[in-house]
Amino acid sequence: MLLDVQNLTTRFHTHDGEVFAVNDVSFHIEPGECLGIVGESGSGKTQIFMSIMGLLAKNGTAEGDVLFEGKQILGLSTAQLNTLRGVEFSMIFQDPMTSLNPYLRIAKQMTEVLVAHRGMGEKDAEKASIELLDLVGIPESKKRFRMYPHEFSGGMRQRVMIAMSLLCQPKLLIADEPTTALDVTVQAQIIELIARLGRELNMATVLITHDLGVIAGLSDRVLVMYGGRIVEEAAVRELFHDPQHPYTRGLLDSMPRLDDSSRASLYTIPGQPPNLQALPDGCSFAPRCTHTMEICRKQRPLLQKIAAGRTKACHLENVS
Ligand code: SF4
Repeated sequence: MLLDVQNLTTRFHTHDGEVFAVNDVSFHIEPGECLGIVGESGSGKTQIFMSIMGLLAKNGTAEGDVLFEGKQILGLSTAQLNTLRGVEFSMIFQDPMTSLNPYLRIAKQMTEVLVAHRGMGEKDAEKASIELLDLVGIPESKKRFRMYPHEFSGGMRQRVMIAMSLLCQPKLLIADEPTTALDVTVQAQIIELIARLGRELNMATVLITHDLGVIAGLSDRVLVMYGGRIVEEAAVRELFHDPQHPYTRGLLDSMPRLDDSSRASLYTIPGQPPNLQALPDGCSFAPRCTHTMEICRKQRPLLQKIAAGRTKACHLENVS
């Protein structure tokens, strides 16, 4: 097992009270596996990995166990984490400009990492960097290697960011909504690129997204998150063909389908995501669910195994 997360709980302390961003979340990632994490904004999906990477805002605290190759990494000091971040695991964010230095040429930003972390000489670092730019599909890589980040288009910048995240050959690459700012065609190319790199480099990948369509056919397994909790987990095929949680069903129904012309307009799940400062005692999805029963408002459904490799947190036995 590459990453083993047990009972991860993340809180933010604000003037208005505590925000319960991640609530007792447990999951694992195997080497080379592609895991999709899906949920609306505020579902906790990003904060899981900000907690793991030690990148929480100052008012955030995380508790639980996070084992990377069997070693506890939650609560490590910044200095200790700096030996792991970008080396053993890397994270790509929505806006590459937040991670790239606008004042430095790509060449400088890439070779610096290779010299510092992999002990390469300048010439070898240049060669390895250009090879990585080729690998992520940057045309005229030798020329573009000397350019500044603002000279690249949004899609190309995201490719540069992916190349940078691969410099130290991490075992785990986390991509957080890596395509939201890009147009649809470029989105598909970037997601496919990440999934392909994962396979070719035998690197585990996590695709975090609010859009189930983005990970269809690319991830091996999917976690669906709602209100800071995992509400369903399944192999991607099973999730798409037989969703077992009403929220997952709603997400699937919200996806545009080319093969169904009978649907004149897109379905949207009614209502709003829950207030993370005042989560209900029962099921967080109850106010929006079309199957709500009495028990749902009183008792929170626990995440339970329903078949091999499948779990769900719902009082309903079957979602048709
Ligand atoms: Fe809907 Fe009840 Fe299941 Fe919650 S527990 S998703 S309210 S059926």
